[in-house]
Amino acid sequence: MTIGIIGAMREEITPLLEHYKKHEAIAFGGNTFYKVTLGNKTLIIACSRIGKVHSALTASTMVLNFGCEKIIFNGVAGGINPSYKIGDLVLASKLCQHDVDITAFGHPYGYFSESKIFTESDCVLNGIAKAIAKENGINLHEGVVATGDQFVHSKERKEWIKKEFNADAIEMEGASVAVVCDNLNVPICVIRAISDNAGDEALVSYEEFLESSARVSALLVIKMIEKL
Ligand code: SAH
Repeated sequence: MTIGIIGAMREEITPLLEHYKKHEAIAFGGNTFYKVTLGNKTLIIACSRIGKVHSALTASTMVLNFGCEKIIFNGVAGGINPSYKIGDLVLASKLCQHDVDITAFGHPYGYFSESKIFTESDCVLNGIAKAIAKENGINLHEGVVATGDQFVHSKERKEWIKKEFNADAIEMEGASVAVVCDNLNVPICVIRAISDNAGDEALVSYEEFLESSARVSALLVIKMIEKL
């Protein structure tokens, strides 16, 4: 089985590459993909770069070029749900694109014609993540994740996204990867650890907690790989 693991930034894949020390770097399509062989499992790990376009490109490449049969996204996010604390883990139940706006044509926010507002993640992969969290006493929230090409650091924008999409966390890649996987019939799981609260203090918090939160998320992903 071939499994793709995507992080947007170097900090999000470093803990994985440190854990899977023996990896082969393969250059493809302007990026580097790290191949790990674990018995009958092959992992393809990559840092997509930030945003919806980069992450969609990486997910498509993983599936169409490297034959990935499952995709796990691993990284950090801004929390909107007031119960989420820095370092908490969030499993995306469904994902939307909060920056999509063709409302001028009478469509709702987040909707493109012949598509849908929310894309669901895979319940089997999510079940594995939840079982691991339970076994290890990890507090894993399950929530709606809103994606957009914006680092959200304002109370107003965050409140708007929460109200419009009932979102619990904000980031910049999950929904685009989910759309790719949905269209290509590949199960997707998005795991994020909270680095900030997407409010006015988000930047300071993000810079302080990026590395530690990225490690929290990667740890859960490593445990998931052991179970797959
Ligand atoms: N430090 C980077 C920019 C990071 S953008 C640079 O200088 O290039 C923020 C990244 O963390 C994105 O990959 C996004 O998915 C995630 N993220 C964390 N908090 C976020 C927030 N409040 N809003 C949007 N994305 C957030």
